[in-house]
Amino acid sequence: MLQPYPVTLHLTRHNRNSIAALLAVLEAELPAGLIATQLVESLSDCDAQGLLVCSFTSLQAAAVASALAALRTRVPELRAVAGGPHASGAARETLAMGFDWVVTGEAGPVFAELVRQLAQGQLPSPGILHEQGASPLDRYPPWPASGQLFAQIEITRGCPMSCEFCQTPRLFGRRPRHRSLEALARTFAHAVATGHDFTRFVAPNAFGYGSADGIHPDRNAVEALLLTARRAGFREVFLGTFPSEVRPESATEEMLSLARAHCDNTTLAVGLQSGSDAVLRRLKRGHTVREGVEAIARIARARFQSKVDFMFGLPGETDAERAESCAVARHLVAEYGASVHAHLFTPLPGTPLDGAAPTPLDAATRDYLESLALSGQATGVRTAR
Ligand code: SF4
Repeated sequence: MLQPYPVTLHLTRHNRNSIAALLAVLEAELPAGLIATQLVESLSDCDAQGLLVCSFTSLQAAAVASALAALRTRVPELRAVAGGPHASGAARETLAMGFDWVVTGEAGPVFAELVRQLAQGQLPSPGILHEQGASPLDRYPPWPASGQLFAQIEITRGCPMSCEFCQTPRLFGRRPRHRSLEALARTFAHAVATGHDFTRFVAPNAFGYGSADGIHPDRNAVEALLLTARRAGFREVFLGTFPSEVRPESATEEMLSLARAHCDNTTLAVGLQSGSDAVLRRLKRGHTVREGVEAIARIARARFQSKVDFMFGLPGETDAERAESCAVARHLVAEYGASVHAHLFTPLPGTPLDGAAPTPLDAATRDYLESLALSGQATGVRTAR
């Protein structure tokens, strides 16, 4: 009898949800016993038998490239496939990192077919493979039924907005697809039965679950989601926390009071990105500064603390526009007890800002962000001088 074909997945603190989803795809698409999967946290631990699977963002690409090169020196016959946001936006560059195959788009049948062929002793031509279309979210559970890896539960995929810096609509499309309540009830029951007593949800806009456009909330759908999670037996339920966020226009009083009644988080992540309306227009954010500030005021009245995303160093951003962002951040911290999550702009492959040069931060902005970080009111601040 043939031994199962070994498939090694590279698990990092950044890709847990993706690796769980990949395992679920393989489990759903391939016959039982065809492959044996294992997880490694460091590529230097990979024994290079069979196939290595990597999924990473652009921020990890350089580290993956150098670890893969070292592994290839040790084991030249290694087979390796990459997927995820960096591979999808920069497929040729990812292939040139030393992978045999790159799979773009959402993991699904094309990825599973590649693994099936390898497991059956075939060697498909190296190159770029494209997953076709966007399948319903219910097609695969968020993690494997074997329980090999538990992750946050993706409830919505795809975003109708088109923020210039963001890979989400380019990778997952602009039509939001929601996991059904029936599928979620099964997932929740499985999680609780295997000893997981809390859950976090992944969505481009946490309050957009079940809504037609993913932006304007469907209160009943979100209430049903939260009640279903509670009835399943989770001790704690978190909605609207990192890595999800709530868009300003969806943070209505009604939705906030629903979250207050059924969720355990005391914070909500909110994307504002800039304190300049001109920058928000250029980014195609679809909201104004005032709408963002009003949302954060409502969030404070509902007794949540806002963790507000700001992006600094955007292409073409002027010192005056950054000063507007600092002024708004100051106001939000002082008036509403918000904390700031400051990002330095990174051009991501596949987005309209791919290849755009970040604007260096001026001294006043760096000083302000560092002072916020020192006082514990900001996270994510790395203002290399
Ligand atoms: S709203 Fe959020 S997920 Fe959607 S495009 Fe903008 S940043 Fe990306």
